[in-house]
Amino acid sequence: MSSKARAKHAQRLDALSMLGKDLTRRSRAHCELCHISGVKLASFEVAPIQDVPDIEHTIFLCETCNDQLNKPKTIQPDHWHCLSVAVWSEVRPAQVVAVRMVKRLSGTIQWAADLYEQVYLEPDVIEWIDQGDI
Ligand SMILES: [Zn+2]
Repeated sequence: MSSKARAKHAQRLDALSMLGKDLTRRSRAHCELCHISGVKLASFEVAPIQDVPDIEHTIFLCETCNDQLNKPKTIQPDHWHCLSVAVWSEVRPAQVVAVRMVKRLSGTIQWAADLYEQVYLEPDVIEWIDQGDI
């Protein structure tokens, strides 16, 4: 990594850690997908990744959600029943990730396919969803 790239990377990490306080407040210290509380939460940037991380493109997630989103091979479909609530989230970036995950699961999991058919989305949310995989 060049020193310029390293500086940029450090700047991004700073910005993300500053978001931690706002994310804690918005999520009331609950995972914004599965709503578990009392566990360690970490920020997750929702694609497309912004030049400067901001709260409108970041969600707060537990380790289970974070790991399975980052490593699709580790996905345990049973964990994701939480999506039936999360797809209606008023937190837009959480809704976007929830629907992307339902879409991903819908190929193999019947309840996910049913949910994907039922969910109603605003046009701008659909547009955002189409701009990334997860
Ligand atoms: Zn979670």
